[in-house]
Order: sequence, then structure tokens, then C-alpha cells
Amino acid sequence: MHRLFTALQLKKLLIQKALGDSYIEAITPLQEKSIDLPNSLDTLKQICTNCHLCELSKSRQRVVFGKGNPNSNIVFIGEAPGATEDSLGEPFVGRAGELLTKMIERVLERPRSSVYISNIVKCRPPNNRTPTPKEALSCRPYILKELEILQPKLIVALGATAFRYLTNDNTPISKARGHFFAYNGSKVLPTYHPSYLLRNPSAKREAYNDMLKIKKYLESV
Ligand code: SF4
Repeated sequence: MHRLFTALQLKKLLIQKALGDSYIEAITPLQEKSIDLPNSLDTLKQICTNCHLCELSKSRQRVVFGKGNPNSNIVFIGEAPGATEDSLGEPFVGRAGELLTKMIERVLERPRSSVYISNIVKCRPPNNRTPTPKEALSCRPYILKELEILQPKLIVALGATAFRYLTNDNTPISKARGHFFAYNGSKVLPTYHPSYLLRNPSAKREAYNDMLKIKKYLESV
């Protein structure tokens, strides 16, 4: 009952924020973390699986929770599930996922199963559109809690949406990519989303350089 009340209060606050109420701006990732979500990935997944906090719950097939090694020092975070992910219930299993796997295996020289992969938004937006602020803010407490549990050394934000909702920074991804940003005692490095790279192969060189930077950083921590 307490959890339901908290969830309803959270939804109300996040909607007000999305609508522009200025006092809600005081909410920071740190404050959102204190919302009563469990300190267990399994229980958090269970809550997400039954979540109806935003409109995406009406059109989704499956909630796509994070997957991978919970002890990994690196976590990759994308925007939202696509059609394949929605149907299989796993993150990054379509064409973009294949490319992400190649980037991890060929540049970082480690198996995909050694890292943890998740999304800012856990349910597929219709026609793969960008999640609205209301949807992203409704879902954000889940990824913040995932990160609090995982405590990675490095978070790789795949694309503008992941970067913006993790850091509250609106710098264009083309300028932010390849730079380190502080995140609650950890670091965030934004780079291009693999879907963008599939549409814009010329950006692969920059993404490759970002992955080399990630590799070097992980070797130093
Ligand atoms: S996108 Fe997130 S907040 Fe919206 S219904 Fe799915 S799990 Fe809940």
C-alpha cells in the first residue's frame, strides 16, 4: 500500500514537472533515488514488469528491464526498447543491439555478457518515436535505482535521450560525446546510439574513438 502511494505521488510530481512547474525543478537524481524502490534488481524488475505509470504501458508487449552482469564496472544505457526488444523482452537484441555487441567485443575486447545493458525507458514508444519528457521522467527512477544498485565505475549513455535524462544536461550529443561527466561518484560518457550509427555510418569513426577512450579509462580504474 505504501509503495502504491509512493508511486502515485511520484507520478503526480513527475507530471507536474513535465508540465513546467518550477518548484518541481528542485528534484535531482539524488532526491529521486530516495524514492522507496527496492535495493534488489530482481524485485525492481518485478515492479517494472507490473508498472503502469505512463501511457507506454498500454501499447507495450513486454517491459524491457536491464540485463547483464550486475558486477560489471561498466553499464550501457540506451533510450528505449525497439520492436525486437519489445517482442523478446530483452534490451538491445535487434540490429542496433548487434552493432553494440560488436563494439563491446571488438573494441573493449570483452564478451557482451560481461557488461550490463539497460534503457532510460523500459517500454517501447509506438513507432520507435523518442520518449516524451513525461514518459522519460516517469521511468527515470527505475534506471536511477538500477545504477544505485549496480554502482558501476562508468556509465555509457547511448544517444541524446540517455545522456539528457541521466545528467540533466541538454548539450547536443555531437558536442557532449567522448567527454566524461560526473555522476554520483561515478562517471558518464555519452556516445552515439547504435541506431544512429546504422543510419549514419560516417559517425562510426567518432564512436570507435569513444570506445577506445572507454577502454583506456576502464584499464585505469
Ligand atoms: S515506460 Fe517505465 S514508467 Fe512507463 S509504464 Fe513502462 S516501466 Fe512504467
